[in-house]
Amino acid sequence: MTHRSGRHFLQIPGPSPVPERVLRAISAQVIDHRGPDFAAVGKAALEGMKTIFKTEQDVIIYPSSGTGAWEAALVNLLSEGDRVLMYETGHFAALWKKMAEKLGLRPEFIEGDWRGGADPDAIEKRIRADKAHEIKAVAVVHNETSTGSVSPVAQIRQAIDAAKHPAMLMVDTISGLASIDFRFDEWGVDVAVSGSQKGLMLPPGIAFNAVSAKAMEASETGGMRRSYWDWREMKAINASGYFPYTPATNMLYGLNEAIAMLHEEGLENVFARHQRHGAATRAAVRHWGLEVLCRQQGQESGVLTAVMMPEGHSADAFRATALKHYDISLGNGLSKVADKVFRIGHLGDFNDLTLAGVLTGVELGLRKAGVPHQDGGIDAALKVLDEIPQPGVAA
Ligand code: PLP
Repeated sequence: MTHRSGRHFLQIPGPSPVPERVLRAISAQVIDHRGPDFAAVGKAALEGMKTIFKTEQDVIIYPSSGTGAWEAALVNLLSEGDRVLMYETGHFAALWKKMAEKLGLRPEFIEGDWRGGADPDAIEKRIRADKAHEIKAVAVVHNETSTGSVSPVAQIRQAIDAAKHPAMLMVDTISGLASIDFRFDEWGVDVAVSGSQKGLMLPPGIAFNAVSAKAMEASETGGMRRSYWDWREMKAINASGYFPYTPATNMLYGLNEAIAMLHEEGLENVFARHQRHGAATRAAVRHWGLEVLCRQQGQESGVLTAVMMPEGHSADAFRATALKHYDISLGNGLSKVADKVFRIGHLGDFNDLTLAGVLTGVELGLRKAGVPHQDGGIDAALKVLDEIPQPGVAA
């Protein structure tokens, strides 16, 4: 690898760049995870994550990627043969469904076109038809990272309640948490799944379940055979700030720093910042004459924007050109939309000038790769930034 001057633009929709404060926190010396000093670190992380999930209920922290926390959610709550209603928002919804199948559950997909979030009406219709209450859980992806669409979680809970159905609500907010609004308690979520490498601005390596009292109770006697993922053992030991096995100590230092930073900025400002950068990015995309993959107004993600390539042009070739010439990593299209879309991440440790640099990189890349477009997308984006006040900054 040869040195390239200037900073690399890591603009995939996670892992996102890690701020200096978090990097410094992680670089502290490892301590004894069963010693007297560790309890404060563990407690701060567990309590701190409750403020991010907006819950007073339990949060579990695993040394794993998000996929591990997906599995933990399924095996703690559901038993083999249980029906789960899932919604095809995109690649990650499809992967979660595949996992459910592998675990011996009976997932059922409501089909989607990958261009919007989960539809509460379709969920209500299906769940109303389940008179025998065979469906034990509804599982949706909050921010579908493969498409840049957001599912209306609160309305999905209302749909389940309107149908007077006892199904639990499971939500993957791996790329939504700490970037877009998420309210575990208020929205009546039973299990939420998240990961460290997106809005939490940490490297990959730790993942989370938030668990409602109802879900925790159901798992006491239900769920599948499990050991590493068992909430019960975790919860018992977490009460004193410790973990049943070696936790990712240094990641927890980083997590505590990231939580502090999110509260210093203010969670509502963090959410507004992501929305504003999403709106500006979409203005640039439309000015270029390209299409945003999400076409449900109001469901476009503040975390990332997936952009459709014009017919006959390869998204991967364009991304390779942008990386080679401008040192910017953009997200690839996954499975169904492979080579057809590229994804611009605008999440985490990000500001107006980062966005200007990112969009400049994309526009230069389009030019260099010979992708037909109208120049000047950056100006269109800057206009949006001008129009919407900067959250948390006095005018
Ligand atoms: N779910 C969503 C929405 C994701 O974005 C990802 C990863 O990007 C995953 C699940 C899988 O998480 P991980 O790759 O950390 O295992």
